[in-house]
Amino acid sequence: MLKVHDDAKGQSIENREINYFLAGDIQAKKNIPITITRREYRRKWVNPKYMAVWDVNKEDLGDLATNKLLTKFFEKYGTILDPVEDVIDLSEKAWSLDKKKFRIDLDKEKHIPRQCHLEIEDKNGEIRKGTIRITYKDQPWHCRRCMEEHEGECPKRMQDRLREKEIKEQKEMETKTLIIGDSNLKLVNKNALLADVIASSGAKIGHIANQLSWENTNKYENIVVFAGINNIPGQHERLDEKGVERQIDSEVKTLEAELAKT
Ligand SMILES: [Zn+2]
Repeated sequence: MLKVHDDAKGQSIENREINYFLAGDIQAKKNIPITITRREYRRKWVNPKYMAVWDVNKEDLGDLATNKLLTKFFEKYGTILDPVEDVIDLSEKAWSLDKKKFRIDLDKEKHIPRQCHLEIEDKNGEIRKGTIRITYKDQPWHCRRCMEEHEGECPKRMQDRLREKEIKEQKEMETKTLIIGDSNLKLVNKNALLADVIASSGAKIGHIANQLSWENTNKYENIVVFAGINNIPGQHERLDEKGVERQIDSEVKTLEAELAKT
């Protein structure tokens, strides 16, 4: 290719006949006559897409739906950039993939539907029908929620996700309360509450005190402790009422000490 940056110069050499010699032809024996022509600017693509075609062999179309015929079929949607060809992937465990591919510029402001209905006439003049599947990036899909076609993600879903994120951030910013306690707290809906909730099954007061020592309590202004229900003597513990009281007193003291640190 010859590059000429001056337009007038380019015009002056256009259509001129020259002789070209190959690099190895030192004695200039084999001249190749060449006409200098202007290179056509490549047209800019509007919406080029890589397409995947599925289920051609699954259908009753048999060998009728050749790649050539399919290429012809897709021409109505745009300009074919690469014709339909089989996808062979030997790295896959499947012996054969019922998949084809092609590249098209969707320059007709048309989308290719996910299901394409094909009718092909066979040698005997009989019409054979089949539906093949086409997929590509940003292909419109039918959203049941909006009852309409989307080209990308569903806008409502995007909104939901944004809202969830906002709630999470809000909660992180405004959560000033920690509620800590036994399994009764497992019933609490954490998302409906502006507080962090920690529930430990079977926890006695002493266990909660211990759990508290592991939590980053500095970030809270309020700590609510919900415990005591499990401070009953176990099956094999021989504690009289006095003993239970002593144990509770001792555990409460530990808890108080732990809370005093925060
Ligand atoms: Zn939607």
